[in-house]
Amino acid sequence: MYVKVSGKPVFDANGEFRGYRGTGTDVTAIMRAQQAEASLRTVEAEARESEQRYRKAQLELEHANRVATMGQLTASIAHEVNQPITAAVTNAQAALRWMSAEPPDFGEVSEALAGIIKEGNRASEVIGRIRALIKKAPPRKDAVSINDTILEVVALTRTEAANNGVLVRTQLAEGLPPVQGDRVQLQQVILNLILNAIEAMSGVGEGERQIFIGTGNESEGVLVEVQDTGPGLPAATLDLLFNAFYTTKPGGLGLGLSICRSIIEAHNGRLWASPNVPRGATFHFIAPAHPGGAS
Ligand code: ADP
Repeated sequence: MYVKVSGKPVFDANGEFRGYRGTGTDVTAIMRAQQAEASLRTVEAEARESEQRYRKAQLELEHANRVATMGQLTASIAHEVNQPITAAVTNAQAALRWMSAEPPDFGEVSEALAGIIKEGNRASEVIGRIRALIKKAPPRKDAVSINDTILEVVALTRTEAANNGVLVRTQLAEGLPPVQGDRVQLQQVILNLILNAIEAMSGVGEGERQIFIGTGNESEGVLVEVQDTGPGLPAATLDLLFNAFYTTKPGGLGLGLSICRSIIEAHNGRLWASPNVPRGATFHFIAPAHPGGAS
């Protein structure tokens, strides 16, 4: 039991001390409530922290999954398409041999050519099946706040940026309309652009590694820009960057930017790169606003 005591000395008319008059209040309930509130706050803080950790793990997992899936998919496509191509080449070699025989055997030649046609059709069937498979997943059309999405990714990459001595600044426009699409995919694009920028600046002097992320409202939709102070982009590579398997990194896959571009194009937007002034690279994308308006 907690008791709050307050009292004061009492004097009579002659100024003689008569004792103390006071009250004792049972404040157990108040104390308990305060303790409960304090522990509630701790629990809340812990919950928020776990949620952050969970989201980070989820995003990393999503990223890893995508890379793994792309890797597996690429390997099986390569295998499926390689078989008919190899068979077609063998047939073509046979055709050449039959043609240069003395006398040439056109019966065999036309058989070999028929074989080439068959293998060619097989290869395009494989590609057709893959296209159909990819189209099956309908794209999400949620109303996504791009500023919130950026702030989430910035929070998730804070440690990575700090570990690499990179300062991340944002200037996010107010009153932007929500964009139409898939929040996780848009996070993926922003995450890739930030990680690329961090990697690109590894050779730049410490104290000069900066990422600037800005948003703005354009007639086409919401504009996002990610600028860095890295080595920049030679003009000749500006278009190559987005090709699948283009990489200048020793362990690079070269799929990041090509996946980013297909995600943005699936959102009916566009993604492009330009040199940054005075140095570094800028990646820009525009994604159309959600027709519904409110986010
Ligand atoms: P990866 O990161 O596996 O190489 P990406 O498709 O993400 O694949 O990038 C392709 C290439 O584009 C990189 O290897 C690099 O040469 C170049 N690049 C990407 N981002 C930047 C940047 N911010 N600054 C300079 N070069 C970049």
